Amino acid sequence: QSLTEIKKRGKLIVGTEPTFPPFEFVDEKNQIVGFDIDIANELAKRLGVKLEIVSLPFDSLIPALLQGKIDLAIAGMTITEERAKVVDFSKPYFEANQAIVVRKDGKFEPKKLEELVGKKVAVQLGTTGDLVVSEINGIQVVRFQKFTDAFLELQNARVDAVVLDEAPAKAYVKKFPKFVISSVIDTGETYGIAVRKGNKELLNFVNQTLDILKSSGTYNKLLQKWFE
Ligand code: GLN
Repeated sequence: QSLTEIKKRGKLIVGTEPTFPPFEFVDEKNQIVGFDIDIANELAKRLGVKLEIVSLPFDSLIPALLQGKIDLAIAGMTITEERAKVVDFSKPYFEANQAIVVRKDGKFEPKKLEELVGKKVAVQLGTTGDLVVSEINGIQVVRFQKFTDAFLELQNARVDAVVLDEAPAKAYVKKFPKFVISSVIDTGETYGIAVRKGNKELLNFVNQTLDILKSSGTYNKLLQKWFE
């Protein structure tokens, strides 16, 4: 949808997958909150419209964008070549790597992805974590739509590890001290906001807003708010 259409409609519709703290997660009040949600709010505020958050499985975000069900996907989404063939990405707004999370009993502390061979590893369907473990032969990959379910499997010892982005990995480990990050894999990812291909006006608006948030100090305030 063009900017004019979004303004006429009076709301910006943003898709996300809310088991990815501190970028997007459900808080005690059952609200979807987080770093990305604050950015979405800034975008809506600057457009003078309301924000509607649509919660979807991660691998449904790009299809929903293509079908016009959402205006933007803001979901800690890594800018990848494959994805950039079907959607346009904003400027990078965050840097990320993958982390291996295991139970903190000291029995299994993999330092490299290769040590996951012969093990059961939980990932979120369609994420870059899914990609990196699926590339290695011999890892039994168990795919979930929600990270909360992946960690439940880890807790119940039905999988040996969860592989996901470092910042949410840290957030889960902080919340559940029985888990630990055994290693961080340097994948050198950057997150972007996804826009329907060719929607130049909306893409420019998103990029301009990201610039303004950075130069005004708001971006740093949000980092402090969500990452301490
Ligand atoms: N950054 C990862 C990806 O883009 C994970 C994103 C997520 O799970 N929300 O695949």
